[in-house]
Amino acid sequence: MANRPLTLKDYIGQERIKTQLAVTLGACKKNSKAMPHMLLYGNPGLGKTTLSEIIANEYGSRLHVAMGGNLNKPEDVQALLAPLSDDGGDIVFIDEIHRMPIKCEEMLYTAMEDFEVETGGERFWIPNFTMIGATTLAGDLSRPLRDRFGLHFQLQNYQPDEVGMIIQKLSARENTSITDGAIQEIAKRAKGVARIAINFYSRCKEFADFLGDGTINEDVAAQQFSLMGIDEMGLDENDYRVLNYLATQPRPVGIAALSTGADIDMPTITNMIEPYLVQTGMINRTRSGREITQKGKEWIGVVPPQPVASTDNAPQRNRLERLRA
Ligand code: ADP
Repeated sequence: MANRPLTLKDYIGQERIKTQLAVTLGACKKNSKAMPHMLLYGNPGLGKTTLSEIIANEYGSRLHVAMGGNLNKPEDVQALLAPLSDDGGDIVFIDEIHRMPIKCEEMLYTAMEDFEVETGGERFWIPNFTMIGATTLAGDLSRPLRDRFGLHFQLQNYQPDEVGMIIQKLSARENTSITDGAIQEIAKRAKGVARIAINFYSRCKEFADFLGDGTINEDVAAQQFSLMGIDEMGLDENDYRVLNYLATQPRPVGIAALSTGADIDMPTITNMIEPYLVQTGMINRTRSGREITQKGKEWIGVVPPQPVASTDNAPQRNRLERLRA
């Protein structure tokens, strides 16, 4: 995509990862060495593909991209590795790497470890390269494959101010006028996910172009969010389906029952919906299943909000007041 950041400097947040990468990039460049293989974990839209593009750009290497789901047989892996440059240092990026069948994984073991591939009982040399694997499901990766990556990076969800910065930089690159208020409206609804924020920004931009002079202000953002059915916390129709279903259940429910009840497929619930609902305290994941919290019930309006008197601090304050008296 044309509008992605191309340098570590322009990649917002993920500070620990960026520091480690700066060290690794610097050291490997100095010694003209191929970088270690790297595994990127994280929910969709947090910036795994972008990071791999930045690594290739900063190291000056060619990037070969594949989807794990498209590597079905060893020949597919061979075809991916065949164009590696003889000079070494190319980067191979496999997205959703956990979706490769074991036969393909096994081929990668020797490729990553010994820079050789085996076909028809014979071993062939391949140039040194760096594998970057990306996965949303860390647990689905086999141990031997996981162990062949020298660096493991867990991408974190972004804080609202980081999301704001992502939007600000993007709008600057696109020469779009956007107010601070509109950036905040987008940032607080993006669930800490860069791709969601960028999608909201693009929809708001269309609304602004349609309505007026293309400036995204708070009013434009508010109208666009209401059109999309996105509430103040960024919850959409799917989130409400999960919350509404859980609100009807007297006991915690398992993922399969929740998927059927809310009519949403399981991976979407576990990867896209649940993390944010848990993080914001709308639902709990207990050992016996998922349940809606008091806060969740209040938010969707099935129970009235409790008075916000700070009951926790009250006894302490009383004690303090007595001491002062
Ligand atoms: P993933 O591969 O994890 O699904 P992407 O790399 O495709 O995510 O990122 C989604 C979008 O968000 C892209 O347009 C990307 O440029 C942007 N993005 C992601 N992370 C960042 C970041 N840290 N700083 C700036 N833009 C980002």
